[in-house]
Amino acid sequence: MASSNVLPQSVERLINEFARLPGIGPKTASRLTFYLLRSSDEQTAELASALESLKSSTQLCSVCFNITEDDPCQICIDGGRDMRLLCVVEEPLDVVAIERSRAFEGRYHVLHGAISPVEGVGPDDLKIAELIRRLNTEQISELILATNATLEGDATSLYLQRRLATIEIKLTRLARGLPVGGDLEYTDEITLGRALEGRQELE
Ligand code: ZN
Repeated sequence: MASSNVLPQSVERLINEFARLPGIGPKTASRLTFYLLRSSDEQTAELASALESLKSSTQLCSVCFNITEDDPCQICIDGGRDMRLLCVVEEPLDVVAIERSRAFEGRYHVLHGAISPVEGVGPDDLKIAELIRRLNTEQISELILATNATLEGDATSLYLQRRLATIEIKLTRLARGLPVGGDLEYTDEITLGRALEGRQELE
């Protein structure tokens, strides 16, 4: 946003920061900023502190690369889980979605994205080398490819299928029935649960 001289700099600064967020245009950015100007000191302090601790008290789990406050994360150290099952997802929010479905008792591996030539994202930009290291060191018998039902998700799944062809492991993919083009994180838990239960082995 161009600087206007009309607004105090601190107001403009926040508008500009909001406007950089996904899905927020200049109009919404202004509305949020003026809302905060009118709100209590307590509320703005709470927001500032939440923003600050978002980065300072979270990190990536060194095992599964999910977002966590403790490393390894709660899921990775949960002895009640089936250690032989590993579910590969694109984003941390996908873990949340699958956990909500209660249809999966194994652990996860978060790739942090999907292969997308258009956006210049290749296999080396994802946690794929880390995944292969896990497959070579952990006792995993089944790998569930739970990437999104999108072009990028399919490309990633196909890449993994080829790349893992020489590793002795059962590879499965979520059953179709997920909305095409849909992100896992927006899929309701019943559909997701069914997709997990109906997962099919890849040849
Ligand atoms: Zn973990």
